[in-house]
Amino acid sequence: MHYQQLLEEIKNRIDIVDLITEYIDLQKTGQNYKSLCPFHAEKTPSFVVSPSKQIFHCFGCGKGGDIFTFLMEYEKISFIEAVSMLAKRVGLEFKPVNKSMSQISKEKLYELYETASNYYIEQLKSSEKAKNYLKSRGINEKSIEIFKIGYASGEKNLLYTFLKGKGFDDNLINSSGLVNNNNDFFRNRIIIPILDLTGRVVGFGGRLLDSTSQLPKYINSQDTPIFKKGENLFGLWHSKQYIREKGYVMIMEGYMDVILCHQYGFKNAVAPLGTALTQEQLEKAKRIFNNLKKFTNRILLIFDGDEAGVLAAQKSLLPLFYGGFIAKIVLLPDKEDPASFLQKYGEKAFKNLISKALSPVDLIMKIYLEKNLNEGIHKFLIILSYIEDPIYCDELIRELSEKTGVNESALRDQLKRIVYSKSSKSHKNYNNDIKILSVPKEEEILLRIAISHSEKINYIFQKINIEDFENELIKNIFLKIEKLHNHGQFSTNKLLNILNEAEKAFISKLIINSQIDEDLIIQNMNDCIKNLALKSIDKKIKKTAKIGDEKILSELIKMKKTIMRNYNG
Ligand SMILES: [Zn+2]
Repeated sequence: MHYQQLLEEIKNRIDIVDLITEYIDLQKTGQNYKSLCPFHAEKTPSFVVSPSKQIFHCFGCGKGGDIFTFLMEYEKISFIEAVSMLAKRVGLEFKPVNKSMSQISKEKLYELYETASNYYIEQLKSSEKAKNYLKSRGINEKSIEIFKIGYASGEKNLLYTFLKGKGFDDNLINSSGLVNNNNDFFRNRIIIPILDLTGRVVGFGGRLLDSTSQLPKYINSQDTPIFKKGENLFGLWHSKQYIREKGYVMIMEGYMDVILCHQYGFKNAVAPLGTALTQEQLEKAKRIFNNLKKFTNRILLIFDGDEAGVLAAQKSLLPLFYGGFIAKIVLLPDKEDPASFLQKYGEKAFKNLISKALSPVDLIMKIYLEKNLNEGIHKFLIILSYIEDPIYCDELIRELSEKTGVNESALRDQLKRIVYSKSSKSHKNYNNDIKILSVPKEEEILLRIAISHSEKINYIFQKINIEDFENELIKNIFLKIEKLHNHGQFSTNKLLNILNEAEKAFISKLIINSQIDEDLIIQNMNDCIKNLALKSIDKKIKKTAKIGDEKILSELIKMKKTIMRNYNG
């Protein structure tokens, strides 16, 4: 099936209201459905779904598009992945065309990891030793199943032989990170798969079974084209839905901690894969946070309450602030981790701990109150200088002033000085400028008319020059409309299939919010066409006047007069 045809067919078979209702509650209002937006925090619903147009749009954050856009945004997956998920769902075959070599080998790698994962799961079933170990760690059958936990025995090349038997070639096996020189990478370890955001196995963590061994307790499979340790979080696929529901994520250190938290009902728990969230690993941490930010900007850090844990908590504040997060910290009793704490004291006690989480200011007070409060304040202000969100920064300054008794304006002055010396030292700009698109009214109205009254498209194209559009987004959309129109194939649905995400978001708003006075369409359209043409010629006149070419100038002025006359008559 042709690609565009496939997109059409998927859309024919899946109703956008049905799809979105699987994720959020929709309320019928008039012709449309409304809901609180799943993509930004709000108290009154501005998320609108149109069953007749098969699109959605949020008037709060501007996100919008078709079923593919919704899935991409909600699941945080790529367009191709969204198409593939929905195709599968309605039983259509989808094989991305024009695959590059790297894509083919990526797909082979996914397949290999899936196969290896199933192999490890089977191995666990036949090892009493491994099963007993998991039992001793308090992990139940259900968690083993949910997290697809497996086992790699102590033998040298069982996995290698298994993969060979499944038809994978030596090259791929040996570059997979699971086998080196025909020898298995994981041996005598509990195997915990690491999943990407679509639920595919992309890596493994291995926990040593033999506690007397000198080998490292935990190891991760190597980075591959489908897996980057620095960017992944263990448990994110399992918890993404719950992170959204609870409005925050719990970050802890160990895989076992995450699994036990889920088992005890704390399903918004994740762990970084060996990347310490410290200033030294700021850039790596930022990549992890970018992944997380798709779901929440609130983090609850959970650390051991011993000295090392407290220090680690303090160190992670800077990257968190730098990443744009709002953070709280839970310090467990000395020598406990979430797993051991839950097993000893149960979920009620854990819940209680969470409810008493420390603010960053509390943490600083705890560390420095008895040592050297001034030093603590200074260090904290340095950390604060990395905050992107001015409101959050303001809150923390106020809290710092309240709790330390230091005058608020003195704290602000000191912070300003730190920010100033920082910015004069480095030219690095941490703030991403958000480009605000200004949209000329006549351009927007013309686009509105083109998509809601496609019979007028021909007329519009006769009268306008697409190059005259000032707004790049609208210009590009019009170029795409023209392409479809020239092939006699224009429909909003077909248009949505070839727009990029920014264009889709823009156009979904126009479609849902189409307030055009039917009686005035012709008048409206002509006014807009005229304005567009006038603006363009004014620009040319200005340019020519600068150069001083009298002859061209007088011609342009003549043209301008013609335009005014034509549309006023
Ligand atoms: Zn929104």
